[in-house]
Amino acid sequence: MVGDVLVVAIPATMTRAEELHWVGLMKSKFERRKAIAPIDLTSRARRLSLLYDLPTPDSIRWVHNQRTRWGSCTPENRTIRISSRVARFPDWVLDYLIVHELAHLREPGHGQAFRELLDRYPRAERATGFLIAMGREWNENGLPVVEPQNPQRSQYELRDPRRPTPLHR
Ligand SMILES: [Zn+2]
Repeated sequence: MVGDVLVVAIPATMTRAEELHWVGLMKSKFERRKAIAPIDLTSRARRLSLLYDLPTPDSIRWVHNQRTRWGSCTPENRTIRISSRVARFPDWVLDYLIVHELAHLREPGHGQAFRELLDRYPRAERATGFLIAMGREWNENGLPVVEPQNPQRSQYELRDPRRPTPLHR
């Protein structure tokens, strides 16, 4: 990446199809990086935790390889990861995801206590609807929020419903 321009060097041996595939891949990577650049996740999380009286994480960062989840939280080391795909969603959706993961620092499950924390965020329901719409091919139970895959590791996450896991059934 040179400034705001994407420069892709292509080996002469590539076929046209390989070239298109490669350029497409580079372009999507480039666009993700461009989308996350202006967003400071750490200060955003701090502001939201103050605003809604929620815990502050030790670390919050973007992940680019998180294909199946929008966000995840590991309460043991108080870390939060947000998929870089969310950077292009509206601000209030990203805020909802952060609030959701912040709430997991206090309440690991998705029970009543968790939902009460989440209710502090006025657009929680609307944001959930947005995420359902983003994964409209699969929402058999109407929610992108699923229980942890492995409760021992207490990793709680918002899953992209387009990529279901057998464990959710
Ligand atoms: Zn959750």
